[in-house]
Amino acid sequence: MKKILVMEDESNIRSFVVINLRRSGYEPIEAATGTEALEKVKANPDISLALLDVMLPDIDGFEVCRRIRASGSKMGIIMLTAKSQEIDKVTGLMTGADDYVTKPFSPAELTARVDALIRRLGNDEDDENAEIVSGPFVLNPRNRTLEKNGQRLKLTQIEYQLMKLFLENPGKAMSREDILTAVWGADFSGELKTVDVNIRRLRIKIETDATEPEYITTVWGYGYKWGY
Ligand code: CA
Repeated sequence: MKKILVMEDESNIRSFVVINLRRSGYEPIEAATGTEALEKVKANPDISLALLDVMLPDIDGFEVCRRIRASGSKMGIIMLTAKSQEIDKVTGLMTGADDYVTKPFSPAELTARVDALIRRLGNDEDDENAEIVSGPFVLNPRNRTLEKNGQRLKLTQIEYQLMKLFLENPGKAMSREDILTAVWGADFSGELKTVDVNIRRLRIKIETDATEPEYITTVWGYGYKWGY
């Protein structure tokens, strides 16, 4: 069950929201103040989404939103704003909220927004972790592994990064400089030869015959590419 933080100081609104979320299959976590909300976020790093009321007795909802984002959290955030406070919407989106719902709202409206945002966040995650398939290869970003014909290949982290770069750019000629920056980072001060050395090793692992590479091919005088 996905956890949803409900931060609202008015207890009647809070219980109304909590009951409706529970009915829709979510696990609500309640907070009556901003401080309590931040404590609950810390204690429950697996919260999927937060409903944040703007007007609170201690810290306002925008500040709570800002602090959640500052902690690096990518949870979904929906602001609960007072009627016709257009400025709330703008401020909310600026502080990192994903959506807002204006009070008073119906249970159906609220759960529809929650469902939609949960779906959107889920899709983003899937894209990032989606397997990349190319010929006999399957690269799995979730556990950083590579298989060839169903057999797991033992790669170093650098070799894995090289494979990911190639599989994300099939058929694209990439210069050794580009590869160095993409895999080792812009701050890396090593030589371009580093690229060649690692590609030679990677070819031994992935190619049928490393002297006649068919997957990582050489672009003479430039760099490398995936495939012909
Ligand atoms: Ca309030």
